Amino acid sequence: MTRIIALTGKTGSIAIQKDFPPCSLIIRGLAMQTCIYLDNNATTQVDPQVVEAMLPYLTQYYGNPSSMHRFGGQVGKAVKTARAQVAALFNSEESEVVFNSCGTEGNNTAIRAALAAQPDRKHIITTQVEHPAVLNVYKQLEKQGYTVTYLSVSRKGQVDMMELEASMTGNTALVSMMYANNETGVIFPVEQAGAIAKEYGATMHVDAVQVAGKIPLNMQDSTIDLLTISGHKLHAPKGIGALYIRKGFRFRPFLLGGHQERGRRAGTENVPGLIALGKAAELALEHLPNVKQEKKLRDRLEKTLLKTIPEIEVNGGGTERLPNTTNIGFKYIEGEAILLSLDQYGICASSGSACTSGSLEPSHVLRAMGLPYTILHGSIRFSLSRFNTDADVDRVLELMPQIVDRLRALSPFNSDQAEWLQGREEAVATSK
Ligand code: PLP
Repeated sequence: MTRIIALTGKTGSIAIQKDFPPCSLIIRGLAMQTCIYLDNNATTQVDPQVVEAMLPYLTQYYGNPSSMHRFGGQVGKAVKTARAQVAALFNSEESEVVFNSCGTEGNNTAIRAALAAQPDRKHIITTQVEHPAVLNVYKQLEKQGYTVTYLSVSRKGQVDMMELEASMTGNTALVSMMYANNETGVIFPVEQAGAIAKEYGATMHVDAVQVAGKIPLNMQDSTIDLLTISGHKLHAPKGIGALYIRKGFRFRPFLLGGHQERGRRAGTENVPGLIALGKAAELALEHLPNVKQEKKLRDRLEKTLLKTIPEIEVNGGGTERLPNTTNIGFKYIEGEAILLSLDQYGICASSGSACTSGSLEPSHVLRAMGLPYTILHGSIRFSLSRFNTDADVDRVLELMPQIVDRLRALSPFNSDQAEWLQGREEAVATSK
């Protein structure tokens, strides 16, 4: 049976089909619109099995897990199960999992906790290509007297462990590095970085928001002390996340209040959310051996585009990358123009982080990689999930050559002006 949930707002009403195919909306009076969703690093479709698992905790089982009565106790048991499911995804102990609201909260909490653990140390090391949920914390900390070293990345988006080693001092409190970059998918050697951090007595924090469910995590044999994940990147809803805190780590909570989460994150638990994250973690673990399917689709998309469209390149290509992500630079055109054209055909992609889109500045990640001007402005990211199909990729492959041809014909820049552009770029670089 298909149930329709109607939502009414100021601008009219929409109905969402319960057994919806990915990315479909029925707008009353209009035909059903479906889209091909290739923006899974921004957020993911909530898995219908996850919705099913969480719904009873919105309707029937609304007790407070901290209550003494059996009604609350029942919910407490479900919270315990969810914690075990997330611990299994981390390959950690259950007591090392703290539920919170999102990746941003996890990163903020981890950074503050690491600094509070060693208040005499005032130096932090991170990379130039972290998410704003990390970089903006450091901006504030710099104003408060901390020194932050931002490790550079190569043309392919990789960090250099020699540079990390050379930056470490006895004053370094924290090394904070993303597991994989959200824009390019390039994977960083976080375990090696953790080993270097350990040699100097520093805490190792890893933003694994883009990694959970895409590559295996193993906190059992790890050099990482604190690790962040976010539900909405792995087919759970928005508003739920988890922080891994290594047993024995001298953790100082960010939110103070009740005793929830063993005093490590006060506030009544988002029970439906964490049940959803537990189920999503279980499904992600089950799906891990099949992630190669997404990789196959991604590789076909990438290889065929490279073959059929001239003057393009894969940003971060030839490195170890997430299996679902490709970031491609199309020379001489604007990435935003490609995205708008794709959107007209119902295809969702992105020009970088959802948190920085809307600004006309080129991505800080691609800039840090030192990409030429022509690629910097013409790069877009396709990010896949287990819900994507061969047909989705076929459609993109059918449309992209036409879109690029049309935009290049309109573009004020072409390969003849490449030399001029290069000169302009060099002039800008030397004027800085
Ligand atoms: N870290 C990375 C690498 C991300 O990609 C994101 C979101 O895009 C975040 C952190 C922030 O996560 P959230 O949206 O759950 O706050």
